[in-house]
Amino acid sequence: MALNNSRKIEAPSQVIILEAAGIYKSYVNQTGAKAEAQATTVLENIQLQIHDGEFVAILGPSGSGKSTLLRILSGLIPSSRGEIRYHGETVSGPNPHVAIVFQTFALFPWLTVLENVELGLESQPEISKTQRMKKSLNAIDLIGLDGFEDAYPKELSGGMRQRVGFARALVVEPEILFMDEPFSALDVLTAGNLRTELMRLWRERKIPTKSIVMVTHNIEESVLMADKIVVMGHDPGRVRAVLSGIAIQERGKKNPESEALIDLVYTIITQPDEDADEIIAARMKKSGPAQKSPVKTSRSYQFLPHIQISTLNGLAELIARRGGKEDLSVLGRELQMEIDDLLPLVEAFEILGFGEATEGDLILTAEGQRLAEGNELEDKEIFREQALQYVELIRLIKQTLDKDPRRETEEDAILSKLQEYFTEDEARRQLDTAVSWGRYAELFAYDNESGLLYLEDTAATQEG
Ligand code: ADP
Repeated sequence: MALNNSRKIEAPSQVIILEAAGIYKSYVNQTGAKAEAQATTVLENIQLQIHDGEFVAILGPSGSGKSTLLRILSGLIPSSRGEIRYHGETVSGPNPHVAIVFQTFALFPWLTVLENVELGLESQPEISKTQRMKKSLNAIDLIGLDGFEDAYPKELSGGMRQRVGFARALVVEPEILFMDEPFSALDVLTAGNLRTELMRLWRERKIPTKSIVMVTHNIEESVLMADKIVVMGHDPGRVRAVLSGIAIQERGKKNPESEALIDLVYTIITQPDEDADEIIAARMKKSGPAQKSPVKTSRSYQFLPHIQISTLNGLAELIARRGGKEDLSVLGRELQMEIDDLLPLVEAFEILGFGEATEGDLILTAEGQRLAEGNELEDKEIFREQALQYVELIRLIKQTLDKDPRRETEEDAILSKLQEYFTEDEARRQLDTAVSWGRYAELFAYDNESGLLYLEDTAATQEG
């Protein structure tokens, strides 16, 4: 089939298809020892417009409400406040013009590929059996599964099963295609292939939808695929920045504009407490590092990222080998880490004063340099100093133990303090993390069975 090249690359139009206006979502949960009902705000005041012809990526760390937002936009779940407008009209309930591709697809094992795809049209009884089959075969063909119509799911690779998922969504010819982390369950090569193919179909307007909205936590994926990148942050889930993507013909891994955008997004995401607009403005003015805002949006209690503390040694060594500074996107790629893994690592690195993330780089501090050069014993000593200086919860535990005549405390005393700030589950996780860091630094000991925190003789005598 001859392609009409003039239609290949089109900028999105100004026509708004779907819009979120002031969307809030909260869940009421029973939490804490007193089991008081407490509302958690998952989404706060979301404004978002999806235009005709636009590929929108919703990007953010896990827990920032991306999936919740996608479900609210599709009408699968209601918002707590605010409106969803479809072509300007307020709507509620599932939007029949939207189809969703999920991370993994529940295919019926006893149905063939064709039958699984036909299921997509089940809710449209007006379509005749012959039509249903014809449309399904077209979708199967489009998505590159030609020849596998009669295969059963168990005969297919993960990548092919995901293609069936795409075919099932596309067969209904939705006006908007939603994708919730559609590539993240696939291996790197398969994901790359499927991404490239999907982009080709989209660019050549072979996909019968007007817009695509994709939830992802992969920065490069968002920059390589989207016309608009919505960067979300958490606590509460909110839109931190809306960035224009690179023109579709300019996108590419080696393209300097793409590189610069990847770098900018890394900078925003790795500085969750900074104002994204300030970071962007500083970048535009090329005026050096973003000015740290004097008033940080402070959490009421310092949040510890849940990482194995020993992994920080490796990170310090890697940056030291690069001369004390490395690009975060390079680190992410080299360590094969997506932001959900990289972000907590960088946060812990910063909390402990080993490095600073600015302008998309991670820069070692003098302590970070010492950590990179130290042997195992010296490293523990450095951790001990840094943890006592900078980690609120470790300081609290140490002070509580120092004050106690028997140099011990029940963990419940610490947990109940944490539950003033965190949900019961998160308080538990915070304590577990602090305990593992504190044990590594040999600051205190912990008995798993009794939940007792105590100073060991060596730890007790160190103080003085
Ligand atoms: P993301 O897709 O960015 O990882 P989600 O939208 O899945 O984030 O979740 C955002 C937050 O909302 C999380 O903290 C999650 O625990 C919470 N959440 C999601 N669904 C529910 C629910 N049904 N009840 C209570 N909390 C929920």
